Amino acid sequence: MLNKPIIDRINRPLHDLRISVTDRCNLRCEYCMPSEIFGPDYQFLCKDQLLSFNEIERLAKLFVELGVKKIRLTGGEPLLRQNITDLIKKLININGLSDIGLTTNGIFLPKIAKELYKTGLRRLNISMDALNDDIFKRMNGRGVSSKAVLKGINIAQELGFQIKVNMVVQKGINDQEIIPMAEYFREKGITLRFIEFMDVGNTNGWNYEKVKTKKDIYQLLSGHFDLEPVESTYYGEVAKRYKYSDKNAEIGFITSVSESFCSSCTRARMSADGMLYTCLFANKGFDLKTLLRNGLDDAAIREELISIWNHRHDQYSDQRISNHVDKRQKIEMSYIGG
Ligand code: SAM
Ligand code: SF4
Ligand code: SF4
Repeated sequence: MLNKPIIDRINRPLHDLRISVTDRCNLRCEYCMPSEIFGPDYQFLCKDQLLSFNEIERLAKLFVELGVKKIRLTGGEPLLRQNITDLIKKLININGLSDIGLTTNGIFLPKIAKELYKTGLRRLNISMDALNDDIFKRMNGRGVSSKAVLKGINIAQELGFQIKVNMVVQKGINDQEIIPMAEYFREKGITLRFIEFMDVGNTNGWNYEKVKTKKDIYQLLSGHFDLEPVESTYYGEVAKRYKYSDKNAEIGFITSVSESFCSSCTRARMSADGMLYTCLFANKGFDLKTLLRNGLDDAAIREELISIWNHRHDQYSDQRISNHVDKRQKIEMSYIGG
């Protein structure tokens, strides 16, 4: 473990690592993997391009030595990666890691939740954009019913997982679901987080007109519920949190568009093929897989990671011009994992 945290060019420590374990998904959410682009001919990563579990574990250990305390597994849909529980078992035992979570669309939870729980994993973020079946089926691009996700959420909750539900809100698409979703998860005592629709990648047809901002959503919610702000509990906490004054449940906002938070962004992201990105909106990554497969030792890879982080100066969201569609080539959300 280093004595001093490594910091980037604007003094942000390295604290979190998101690991994407696959770029494939069983859904085609319009805002993430539009089916016109991610169709039958789309070239997903092949098996040899994916980092093996041993490779992921080796890199994760190095990241933890450099200050990473939290790891989140994501994708694509991470539960599609074969034997994912074997990877979680490896990661959960890393000395110095204080938290591991997984982000999923929840569809496979009925099948795998018990096995996940047995690994020691306790935190799940489950994405769900509408209770209304017509809206949900349309949004996920595969006609899957919201009941399938609710079933996964119930099973996970009964097993004892700590769950947060993530809802990406788009104007005119699912904003009528804000109140029903809030009511439903408030009753279940599950935190619901509203995510502003982001301009990640180049394929999701983003424009500012479709963004329902925290301000809009908060206004709507405060007409129905009594909400109190909750102080953030750690440096770099992304969600702006509120609790219901009469109920033990919270909501949160991920305000990447309307109130960006680059100045405290402590996250590194690794794709399933071992590219390291220092920003969700990056267009250039660092190829860690080649370093591993060329036989570099831990000390050399550690030096490389330190140098990458020390040179980091990404502040994309702070610099975004709100109504401007950035045509620059950017990585896709399903590749890097959100
Ligand atoms: N498949 C898993 C899931 O959906 O939870 C994990 C990967 S998914 C890329 C991670 C998160 O990114 C999900 O909560 C999803 O809703 C969010 N996401 C994808 N595209 C987005 C966009 N354009 N704007 C905001 N959030 C987005
Ligand atoms: Fe799949 Fe998640 Fe993207 Fe939806 S948001 S298409 S579930 S990776
Ligand atoms: Fe972090 Fe990049 Fe998002 Fe800013 S835009 S908060 S630097 S990931």
